Amino acid sequence: MSTSPPPVARIPLRVSDIKQYVYCPRIIYLQYVLPVPRRTSFKMESGREEHLELDRLEKRRLLVEYGLDKGERQFHVRLASERLGLEGILDLLLVTPKGYFPVEYKFTSRGPAINHKYQLVAYAMLAEEAFVQPVRTGFLYLVPGKMIQPVEITASARAHTLKLIAAIRHLVQAGTMPDRTRTPGRCRDCEFRNYCADHDRVSRPHVPGLPMRGPWPRLPARDGPGADGSLG
Ligand code: SF4
Repeated sequence: MSTSPPPVARIPLRVSDIKQYVYCPRIIYLQYVLPVPRRTSFKMESGREEHLELDRLEKRRLLVEYGLDKGERQFHVRLASERLGLEGILDLLLVTPKGYFPVEYKFTSRGPAINHKYQLVAYAMLAEEAFVQPVRTGFLYLVPGKMIQPVEITASARAHTLKLIAAIRHLVQAGTMPDRTRTPGRCRDCEFRNYCADHDRVSRPHVPGLPMRGPWPRLPARDGPGADGSLG
């Protein structure tokens, strides 16, 4: 008689987990499996104030900048899906006769990042379910350059987002610390940088006569608005 594996528990997730997982899966481990203390930095606080200022400026921005002519704005919209086991607070929802358009603000000068894209796709899926309206396009508003980047909510992007959600739950259930990101530059602004450096120093054997391994020496904690340079 074959024994089937136990069902994967429906671990409730936040939309920002998708963004963090794509940035570095280890962040999910450090948030869910082995939570380490995180402090609210000055920049996180000032970033929140920037968000409030953005809300104010957004009210003055013309919808035509989004390629839309009329509609209303809803700020900080809480969205949740029992079906997906996912929830989050979207920065802005444009409700127009042409449809619903989720918008996320990102404080990055490096252009739209892939993790921001899948976070937005997840919000689009939640909005679609909540308002029973198809959502075909969302926008990333890149604050430093005041750039509005449209993102198509394609079938393949939705499918990939579902895979990411499943992968996050699998990671949490397995409880094994993933390897570091393969893009070391991401560690520079990561709030877990010092923890990772300490962990790898302890877990890697030191060969006598050779310098301690680990390409990222422990540095003073660096303030940053989030592990990936964005707030939410
Ligand atoms: S410091 Fe680097 S490896 Fe560690 S969680 Fe952050 S991004 Fe991932």
